[in-house]
Amino acid sequence: MSKTAEQVWENSLKVIKDNISWQAYKTWFEPIKPVSLENEILTIEVPSQFFYEWIEEHYVELIAKTIKREIGKNAQLEYRILMESRNAHNPASVRVSSSTQGSAAYSNQYTQVKQQEDFSIKNPFVIPGLKRSQIDPQLNPNYTFDRFVEGECNKLARNAGMAVAQKPGGTSFNPLVIYGGSGLGKTHLVHAIGNETRRMHPNRTVLYVSAEKFIHQFMEHARNNEINDFINFYQLIDVLIIDDIHYFAPAIKSQDAFFSIFNHLHQNGKQLILTSDKPPKDLNGMQERLLSRFRWGLSADLQMPDFDTRMAILDHKMKNDGLELPAEVVKYLAYNVQNNVREIEGALISLLAHSSLVKRDIDIELAKKVLRNIVKTSSKEVTIDAIQKMVCEYYSVTYDKLQAKTRKREIVQARQISMFLAKQYTKNSLKTIGDHFGGRDHTTVIHSCQTVKNLMDTDSLIREQVKELQQKVQLASI
Ligand code: ADP
Ligand code: MG
Repeated sequence: MSKTAEQVWENSLKVIKDNISWQAYKTWFEPIKPVSLENEILTIEVPSQFFYEWIEEHYVELIAKTIKREIGKNAQLEYRILMESRNAHNPASVRVSSSTQGSAAYSNQYTQVKQQEDFSIKNPFVIPGLKRSQIDPQLNPNYTFDRFVEGECNKLARNAGMAVAQKPGGTSFNPLVIYGGSGLGKTHLVHAIGNETRRMHPNRTVLYVSAEKFIHQFMEHARNNEINDFINFYQLIDVLIIDDIHYFAPAIKSQDAFFSIFNHLHQNGKQLILTSDKPPKDLNGMQERLLSRFRWGLSADLQMPDFDTRMAILDHKMKNDGLELPAEVVKYLAYNVQNNVREIEGALISLLAHSSLVKRDIDIELAKKVLRNIVKTSSKEVTIDAIQKMVCEYYSVTYDKLQAKTRKREIVQARQISMFLAKQYTKNSLKTIGDHFGGRDHTTVIHSCQTVKNLMDTDSLIREQVKELQQKVQLASI
């Protein structure tokens, strides 16, 4: 019995789901509807031209692969694009074919998807006498220096990376350790160094590997008594990039292998580039002998980009994707998405998807709506000051009265509620909170919090007021 379009699409989605992030799946795949399956041509309906282009650019290889598995190797994909028709009763549609067949245009495009498909390094050990030139560097060609926007937050790391790419193994930055929180650009930067090294020195063997994968490979080889092969292979590399070395912390045996490889490469003037989510000295569980070797080189951190850099990054991403947004929206994003660069990208993409779904121009209102949904998990913390201002405004008392010794009832209440909210919504200690109220001590803060709780139980007006203020504070932290 032949499959229907729905069945094929449903099965494909199961695979796709496992290969991309949850957010990408929700954004790009949930709105797609399977339309028909005829002569091995699967037609799917997408909500707009923008959607179609985005999917073709980012997910076509993944889709092609999955539908071929479902339909057969001659499978083809066609899109039906709902046109942005003025006449809502008569939605027009156009058909376009996917580029999957004549995929030349995409063959040299490295997508996120491809990165996952190619996850296993070609096993070098099955080819005796392997030539170094056959080692695939596992680099993402899209992660280049050109696309890595410079700012105060990454200056040292970026410049050191540049220097290393010019003279791998020939600077004092060996190893070069780049550290910083998630989404701040570590992976991008080390790929950029790898790509630049290859451009400058085509004969050097560069290899990028995540620590997770390194450990996995190590365990495989250990199981087969092939640890020596494993170590020998890595000792062939001229520029070895290991991403996320914090994963080594619990993996003692892998640390031993890494130590041998590190020493061999370093002694032979080869370059090591490592990334970590914290400064090397804080890598608990990492052997001291490794930590001391990390100190031989340079550790450079990536910090959260400041406002100007965030603007520059947004500008850059938009130029890259040929997009335009009103200046005030760009500012709004740069101002409000502060945690990391990955989130900035996520916000931009969601905004575009949203606008194309609801067929509406992107303006501040839409940006606010979209950000509310996506930045939820990473809400920034409100400050005690901000809470005090909100409460003062709410009760029309002046800010300095909160600090003063006044014992007027409405001021005492505003002060107590501010303390209560500060305790609830910030991570500050009781002492710090007290300091913000004219240097009151922590027992006063405890007492205030308790009083507000009691009042909320007994006084319905206060309860409503505090609830309203709680909502305001929550909104401020979106
Ligand atoms: P990490 O490895 O630190 O978690 P990534 O390197 O994966 O972070 O970066 C997350 C995303 O942010 C990537 O898409 C990357 O291209 C982008 N990015 C990070 N820093 C910059 C920058 N300075 N300029 C442009 N894009 C950046
Ligand atoms: Mg990374």
